[in-house]
Amino acid sequence: MGAHIIDGKACATSIEASLKPRVEQLITDGCNPHLAVIIVGDDPASHVYVRAKERACDRLGIKSTKVLLPGDIDFQQVVDQVILMNKDPTIHGILVQSPLPIGMDEVVITDLISPLKDVDGFHASNLGKLVQGDSSGLLPCTPAGVMEMLGWADVSLSGKRAVVIGRSRIVGMPQALLLSQKGADATVTIVHSRTQNPEEICKEADILIAAVGVPEMVTSSWIKPGAVVIDVGVNRVEDNSKEKGYRLAGDVHDEVSEIASAISPVPGGVGPMTIAMLMSNTVRAAELQNQ
Ligand code: NAP
Repeated sequence: MGAHIIDGKACATSIEASLKPRVEQLITDGCNPHLAVIIVGDDPASHVYVRAKERACDRLGIKSTKVLLPGDIDFQQVVDQVILMNKDPTIHGILVQSPLPIGMDEVVITDLISPLKDVDGFHASNLGKLVQGDSSGLLPCTPAGVMEMLGWADVSLSGKRAVVIGRSRIVGMPQALLLSQKGADATVTIVHSRTQNPEEICKEADILIAAVGVPEMVTSSWIKPGAVVIDVGVNRVEDNSKEKGYRLAGDVHDEVSEIASAISPVPGGVGPMTIAMLMSNTVRAAELQNQ
């Protein structure tokens, strides 16, 4: 029997529904939640992601503003744009779309954003609060979305063995922290590019989160029968049978659904949840700034 599909789209829809009355309340109180997005350069995928974020804002009545800056712009002008938005009381969330052009330091830009407006949750202050188990900060959207999906699918984490493949600042590392924090209480192992025997380690996981960026790397021999698998990966794989010449693949091979008890699909899994959590952070940021 195939694994239960953890429907990220349905989970995201239910999160959006719960945000709607909060947006309406803010607007009644005279505060129109407002997300500002900066894109530097012309990365086509960035435009696709930002359009999806704008559409989510439209669905919820959140105002969105997009600032497009040329890829060869002076770094100082990007800095100035962020500072301007920090000072603008009508903007509640600021997001600088990744990737920035080569030579522009994303961490420098992230740490310039006011932590209260850091709706990506990547500011050192917000990540520091996560390390401290302080829930007052804004959480990184993708790992927070994974936690919501696990809750939605009724997956019990306490005392369970979780393995996260990947240790990036924006997904793997905060994911490991969220799974192991008090209240979630999983026992977490991080697998990365220097890990020896990753397959054996993953095979011990009750919950496996793949955030690698290597298409279909995780095959059924990596999976403990009955494990819950969340596939964060979004990879373009050449496929000439498709109109665009490529298809989207996760980090987990389809065959895993024969072994796992539950699995998130790509697309339609973590992707919509990341956007839902961005909306959630924007609403929360507006509420905090409107107190
Ligand atoms: P990243 O910054 O490139 O990090 C990848 C991580 O995977 C690194 O920690 C790396 O280890 C590890 N890794 C690479 N090759 C490995 C291997 N063969 N075995 C074990 N570990 C390996 O990527 P990211 O930003 O975290 O994103 C990961 C994936 O998630 C990508 O496919 C990305 O597109 C996707 N993503 C999806 C969403 C969404 O909303 N669905 C959001 C964000 C990211 P080292 O640290 O040792 O280099």
